[in-house]
Amino acid sequence: SEECVGIVTLPNQVKYKAVKRGFVFNLMVVGESGLGKSTLVDTLFLTNLYMDRHIPVASEKIARTVSITKSTVDIVEEGVNLRLTVIDTPGFGDALDNRESWKAALRYVNQQMVKYYKDEVGVNRQNIKDNRVHCCLYFISPHGHGLRPIDVKFMKALEQKVNIVPVLAKADSLTQKETRNMKAKILSEIHKHKIKIFQVPECDPDDNHLHRQQDLELKRSIPFAVVGSNTVIESNGRRVRARVYPWGTVEVENPAHSDFVHLRNMLICTHMQDLKHTTHHMLYENYRINHLCENLG
Ligand code: GDP
Ligand code: MG
Repeated sequence: SEECVGIVTLPNQVKYKAVKRGFVFNLMVVGESGLGKSTLVDTLFLTNLYMDRHIPVASEKIARTVSITKSTVDIVEEGVNLRLTVIDTPGFGDALDNRESWKAALRYVNQQMVKYYKDEVGVNRQNIKDNRVHCCLYFISPHGHGLRPIDVKFMKALEQKVNIVPVLAKADSLTQKETRNMKAKILSEIHKHKIKIFQVPECDPDDNHLHRQQDLELKRSIPFAVVGSNTVIESNGRRVRARVYPWGTVEVENPAHSDFVHLRNMLICTHMQDLKHTTHHMLYENYRINHLCENLG
């Protein structure tokens, strides 16, 4: 069986647009270096985004270590065209650089809103390119004890500008019980600090049972405990992505092993449009109104 990202399962309305004009989605990944960000993006979109497509954003080069990197790839499946851009902050590493790195990410998100606003009030507003960040996957280390102070600070700074989707990185390094505990701890800290993360919209009460069940499972998966891999193995006659260890194999798409499938479904199949909608109608609108008020006052 052919591996497939799943954009053909986008809702019809979105798909129609996607076929006609190409559908744009901008995803940012943040979190300290080594947490599996690049691997997960490649696993999600079955790409090798990090092989040769780096387009460094010149204006964003800060000092020597921190630079924002933008990679764009066109994913075409059965005539549906998704233009995916991934924004990465590779410098998010040693303690000294962390602050500069998250400032750079924040500044990037902000600049895209400014740019969109300028285009919108400009003369040629028919074909505005949407470079705003529609979703930010925030990687949380599996080795800590929940959120670190810098995670809290960073997420609080980002929440006004971008949809945050928290993920528990490298979940295969935790036991099932540890994963449950970590997820609970992270959620409770998110609540305690009143961090706004992307809310999966309430599902229509008239929806069928299966759909409501899927929605419930999706909500229960947050923060998604994820596993990434670029290794493909054969399992029960299917080619699947997995991490192979001396003691066994972790299958990325096996719901018993990780929440990867829930995250992918949410991002690609069920909620891509919601993420874009929230970006435009809530986050960007908020920016726009604040900007107008500032200029009036
Ligand atoms: P990044 O710096 O956050 O982009 O991390 P990378 O994707 O470059 O991965 C860093 C290292 O972690 C590599 O050796 C990966 O093979 C490994 N890695 C990536 N994802 C996972 C995962 O889900 N579980 C485990 N155990 N290792 C992973
Ligand atoms: Mg990376």
